[in-house]
Amino acid sequence: MKNKSQMREWLNDFGLSHPLVIGGPCSAETEEQVLKIAHQLKDSDVTVLRAGIWKPRTRPGMFEGVGAIGLKWLQKAKEETGLLTATEVANKDHVKLAIEHDIDILWIGARSTVSPFIMQEIADALEGTDKIVLVKNPVNPDLALWLGGVERLHTANIKKLGLIHRGFSSYEKTKYRNNPEWQIAVEAQNKFPDLPLLCDPSHIAGRRDLIFDICQTALDLNFDGLMVESHWDPDNAWSDAAQQVTPTRLIQIMKDLKIRKESDQEESYNTALNNLRTQIDITDQTILDTLGKRMLVAEEIGLLKKSKNVAVLQNKRWNEILGKMILEGKDRGLSEEFILKIFKAIHQESINHQEEVVNG
Ligand code: PEP
Ligand code: MN
Repeated sequence: MKNKSQMREWLNDFGLSHPLVIGGPCSAETEEQVLKIAHQLKDSDVTVLRAGIWKPRTRPGMFEGVGAIGLKWLQKAKEETGLLTATEVANKDHVKLAIEHDIDILWIGARSTVSPFIMQEIADALEGTDKIVLVKNPVNPDLALWLGGVERLHTANIKKLGLIHRGFSSYEKTKYRNNPEWQIAVEAQNKFPDLPLLCDPSHIAGRRDLIFDICQTALDLNFDGLMVESHWDPDNAWSDAAQQVTPTRLIQIMKDLKIRKESDQEESYNTALNNLRTQIDITDQTILDTLGKRMLVAEEIGLLKKSKNVAVLQNKRWNEILGKMILEGKDRGLSEEFILKIFKAIHQESINHQEEVVNG
């Protein structure tokens, strides 16, 4: 792990041989459920038990958490298993109760990070604490808002801070519940290399079969840890059922993940190379997604032209696009020759799609 400055020191307490792993149910449901999961997770790479006590739900009428009673269950789980505990806090009362019940890590949820008022209230309530405080990214892809939240906590003299990347909501339906937009997390890491960065694959994925790959991508991007939702009976969980994995599965995931260490120069070269390649792969995926979307729009234009019986090829419009792209490309350091090649190819593909719609 890189840059062992003061802010990262708390991470060392968890040992540097593997990333910090926080596991446990989305929500604490009953005492038996919390204890059962804690016992299944102990003696594994998981060192911190998570459970939501107060659940921020997008729509009313869903399970909103068991409330303060659940903190006692977490305390009991800690006593019995030695696991540290973590829960979400969203206002000053939560902070007070969590501290009273000896919770070790407090995290701030995506729906709280969006609000500077809530962040300030939490920061004031936590002033000077030596608890570890992890800040999830806001629901919307806004790096400044995320880091602004952290700054409020830092100003309140909270030293053990970290970030959790849980993806960003988008209107558009994708295979993810929350789009990872990895570049935002990478930018956060580059701007604040002192801040430990964890990934929450569960809320990015929204479904359990994607968890492993998201964890591996996070580790390839040098994330410092993972927070994974785990329930002994995922399908019957009271919240986020589709994305939770059993403790047995979580332990297997941790075994199968490749962790790249920076023990010598060769290793550090490989880690850096791997990190950059992962960024390239993510960018390539985005290029493909964008091209796919462009063709869908082209097909719609094809349908429209068909209804009016207009020719597919419109030279004037095409020359306008090309001229604009050459100029915009220059601003991005892309040569005219390259832009011509790539946009000719894109244009041809669009025409093929339109013709298929018009004639097919
Ligand atoms: C959670 O961790 O259960 C949770 C509600 O997460 P988020 O704030 O990322 O939606
Ligand atoms: Mn959840």
